[in-house]
Amino acid sequence: MQETQAKTPKKWPIVLLSILLALTVGVLIFIWTRFGNAPPQDEGYQMTTYAMAAVVQQTVYGSAGQEAASAAAQAVSDLNEWISWRSETSDIAQINNQAGSSPVQVQPSTLSILQTCLDVAQKSGGAFDPTVLPLTTLWNIGSDNQRVPSAEEISQGLACVGYQNLVLDPDASTAFLSVAGAGLDLGAVGKGAGCDAAVAAYQEAGVEGGVVAVGGSVGVYGSRSDGRPWTIAIRNPNSGEDRTAALGTLEITEGFVSTSGTYEQTFTENGVTYHHILDPKTGYPSSNDLVSVTVVCDNGALSDALSTACLVLGLEQAQTLLAQYDAGGIFINEENQIFVTDNLQDALEVTADGFTLMS
Ligand code: ADP
Ligand code: MG
Repeated sequence: MQETQAKTPKKWPIVLLSILLALTVGVLIFIWTRFGNAPPQDEGYQMTTYAMAAVVQQTVYGSAGQEAASAAAQAVSDLNEWISWRSETSDIAQINNQAGSSPVQVQPSTLSILQTCLDVAQKSGGAFDPTVLPLTTLWNIGSDNQRVPSAEEISQGLACVGYQNLVLDPDASTAFLSVAGAGLDLGAVGKGAGCDAAVAAYQEAGVEGGVVAVGGSVGVYGSRSDGRPWTIAIRNPNSGEDRTAALGTLEITEGFVSTSGTYEQTFTENGVTYHHILDPKTGYPSSNDLVSVTVVCDNGALSDALSTACLVLGLEQAQTLLAQYDAGGIFINEENQIFVTDNLQDALEVTADGFTLMS
């Protein structure tokens, strides 16, 4: 009895010390997770790099986020090395060099992108055409040498343009341009294909979820840590140089979103403004009343090719094209009218003033 009574008062300092220690550890953990090096899980790991003449922005969720974002950034740069006609050693530069001469063995990813290009070229009746290089190098829009080519130059360029000249052999993994002087320019699919490469990297790394934007193309994978759908901002076509101004938001749970706009790269000569999306039939910038097209589907390269195709085709034919791919579309015309395909009606929220949502 006495022994017990004698020991009892000695326990209190230990209990108090334990509580104090637990509180200190708790506060330290809070400070470390809040302000320390480790990013809070729910905000995701963010990375901004530059590739394909565009900003590459990523947010990746999960413990492998940082690793996956680095792998994805590398994958986008690597892909560019295979598909840029400007990169001398690329598959595309070699196909162009061998035009009219012989087929070229290409990477599986290059072949797959070319197959997407050919399919969209056929289904769009050539409104999208990966063989536009002889025209794009005449106009050089977006560079210091941009200019309006002469009618004669355009007709010479047009003579070498035609997706029918692109011959693919999937079994041999080769691509061939059957006409000398022909050339591939994958500028209209590259950024979307970059999103495919990034999402493949997320998948391989086993992350919870991630979102990547390469210029005007976006890809989402998995889920956000808060379980909410991904919210993609759609650019306001009237915002001029301000690339951050949004027309509104699009909520998606998976897939890829690409936007093409006539406002993207322009120059004005003798009072006429020219933009960078060409009509392969005329050799001049496309001219209908569409100023912006956003396409949503399950593949990045496809969404990018389709957004360019739709801009050239105009609203009516564009809708027919998208239906063939089960894709969604948001179209904005010069009168600030917005047309949305049925499958995106509930996903789009317009927040900018001055637009009319057509039904
Ligand atoms: P951005 O590259 O600005 O995202 P697009 O995806 O619409 O826009 O691609 C435009 C680029 O595609 C042009 O800069 C040019 O290299 C190429 N291009 C232009 N017109 C066409 C066309 N009708 N079909 C295929 N590629 C095109
Ligand atoms: Mg495109």
